[in-house]
This record gives sequence, C-alpha cells and structure tokens, in this order.
Amino acid sequence: MIELGEGDVAFRCADELGEGPVWDERRDSLLWVDILRRRIHIWQPATGRHGELEADRPVGAVVPRASGGAVAALGQGFAHVDLDKGRIEPFADLGLDDPSIRMNDAKCDRRGRLWAGTMSETLAEGAGSLYRLDADGALTLVVPGVTVSNGLDWSPDNRTMYFIDTLRHGIDAFDFDDGSGAISNRRRLVDIDEREGLADGLTVDADGCVWVALCFGGAVRRYTPDGRLDATVRLPVTVATSCAFGGDGYRTLYVTTGRTTLTDDELRRQPLAGSVFRVEPDTHGLAPTPYGG
Ligand code: CA
Repeated sequence: MIELGEGDVAFRCADELGEGPVWDERRDSLLWVDILRRRIHIWQPATGRHGELEADRPVGAVVPRASGGAVAALGQGFAHVDLDKGRIEPFADLGLDDPSIRMNDAKCDRRGRLWAGTMSETLAEGAGSLYRLDADGALTLVVPGVTVSNGLDWSPDNRTMYFIDTLRHGIDAFDFDDGSGAISNRRRLVDIDEREGLADGLTVDADGCVWVALCFGGAVRRYTPDGRLDATVRLPVTVATSCAFGGDGYRTLYVTTGRTTLTDDELRRQPLAGSVFRVEPDTHGLAPTPYGG
C-alpha cells in the first residue's frame, strides 16, 4: 500500500471533475480536463508552465493529435484544439437527439483511432455508447447500451481492450483486433464492490497490469491481467477519477481528482481535492498514440 499526502501533489488546482490525463510527448506536458468547469489543462512539469483553455461545452477528454494540437471529446462530438492559440473547433458530431448525453472518457488505440464514450447526465441506464473515430473521420458506434462510459486502454500485446462502464462496478475485457479495430468476447476481468468506490479511469502499464482510479474510494488499484489485486495507492481525497503515466520514461503515474459531490465539511477535510497527484510505482507506462498517428 502506498499512501499519498500533500508532498505528492503534482499540480495543485481545484478541479470540479479533473479527468482524462494523457502525456503529450511533443510538449513534455500533461494534458487533462475539468469536465464540469469545461477546461483543458496543459502543464509542463519541468518548467511548471501551465495553461487553461475554456470550452463552451463539457469536455470529456483530450488527446494529442499527430498533425499538431489535440482532439477533444466535447459536448456531443469532437473538436480540434489548437493548444497554442487556444482555439477549439468542432469537426464531428454524434447526431444525438437527447440533450442530456455528453462525451466522457476517450483514448486512442495504437493506430491512432480515438475511442470515446458517452453518458447521460441523469445517469439513465444504457443511454450512453462507446464510439470509435478513425483517422479519416469515420465514426462507428461500437458498444451501445452503456450507462457511464469510462476508462479504457489496451494490453501491451494489443490483443485485449479493457473498458469500464462505471455503474457495472468492475473492469471488462474484450478481444481486440488491431487491424480492423473490432472488439469481441466481452468478459469481466474484476468486480469492484461499490462500497470501495466506483471504477472510473484506467491505464495499462508495461507489465500489462491495469491501474484503475476508484471514484469516491480515494484510491488507485493495480490489477494483474488475470484480475488479481496487486497494489493500492491511497489518496488524501475521495474523488479519484483517472490516471496515466507520463514524464521521463513514463515512470510517473499522474492521478486526477475532483471536488464534485463533496460537502463543505468534506472539502474542509480534503483541501487537496481537485489537484493532480503523482506517484512513482515500481513500473512504467507506455507512450500514448496521438489521434491519427
Ligand atoms: Ca471518468
């Protein structure tokens, strides 16, 4: 068990719902979002340089783009993000009728296809979906009937895709076909009791183990590829949302957090809620693939 404290804050901020951390290799920077405050953060640990872009809709996730800048899962679609000029330009829309649906977590596979999920802000059961946005802009609905589409990532051998529908209380795995981008054979990797927190964002390390943030559980757990609990990182805040490796050699695990749903009393006891934490476990992560890369 690793116990984090004030000295493990990587970047102190007060995100309502910090989410979707991803390392941007070209900028040696961590990108992440605050979904509810509609912000995109960009922070360079080596210099401390930090910038925030404000979106006009909730922003579920952001990923680097091979041709420059980034792509955001924004509102009910996707947008190009010019990180230098601060411009956000929508370019694809899911074409939904239900205004309560919004983009949530998203990540690129190793061919640079962006997998992005949705959820209903009313948490309506099965109202969300998981989509795949190919590099040519083609959009495919891959998994319908999702309630809260959340963390996803791929095994180092690229044959397994992990996926979380948060209100199903666990982590699922699919067989993954890299050539076609098809998934099949959905099965349960691990159940997570909701009293221990809600499975939220995840990342896979170089050993093939799965790190998952437990929202309302104040922890990040590492599970082996056969579903065994291997390590726990405890945070001094309860709303732990997602995690990603970054920095030199991808040896630092960054963990985003939030303040949403916390009472005034809880916020007093959790003054670091909404900050980004860091931990250097005895492993490292894999470089993320940018969209279209
Ligand atoms: Ca999430």
